[in-house]
Parts: sequence; structure tokens; C-alpha cells
Amino acid sequence: MLLTEEQINKLKETWTRYPYVNDTCIWCSACISISPDVFTMNDEWKSEVMFLESYEDLGVDDSIMACPVESIKWLE
Ligand code: SF4
Repeated sequence: MLLTEEQINKLKETWTRYPYVNDTCIWCSACISISPDVFTMNDEWKSEVMFLESYEDLGVDDSIMACPVESIKWLE
């Protein structure tokens, strides 16, 4: 599910960095295979970030490196 504005604000308040997927995603599913607790598919066959308290130690850096179109980046 897409992070809501409220969820993003909560992450910012706690200085929690979080991954962001832009609309260049081609749905190769690599990030979901690597970080299934972080990424999910949306109705438009794009990867989306699920809301978590923390995104550390869940393979996000590996997903960023595996993404063939550089769709994922960290935000904070
Ligand atoms: S790895 Fe990149 S292109 Fe592949 S599903 Fe994830 S965000 Fe989309």
C-alpha cells in the first residue's frame, strides 16, 4: 500500500529514512523478492512501499542495487 501523507509525516518526525519508488518502475519484482516485508505490488503493477516503523536491515540497499531502472531511493 502506498505510504500516506500522515505516515510519511510520522517517519519524518522520528527521523526514520524510508524507501521511495518512483513511477519508472517496470515491475520486474526484484525488490519484492529481496525485501518482501518492504515492497508490494499495487493495482497498476508497480512496486510500492509498505508502512513500517523502520526499514533498516530489510535488504533495501540490496533492492536499490538490484533495481534495473533505478526506481528506488532513500528519503528521510
Ligand atoms: S526492482 Fe525496481 S523495477 Fe523492479 S519492481 Fe522493484 S522498483 Fe520496480
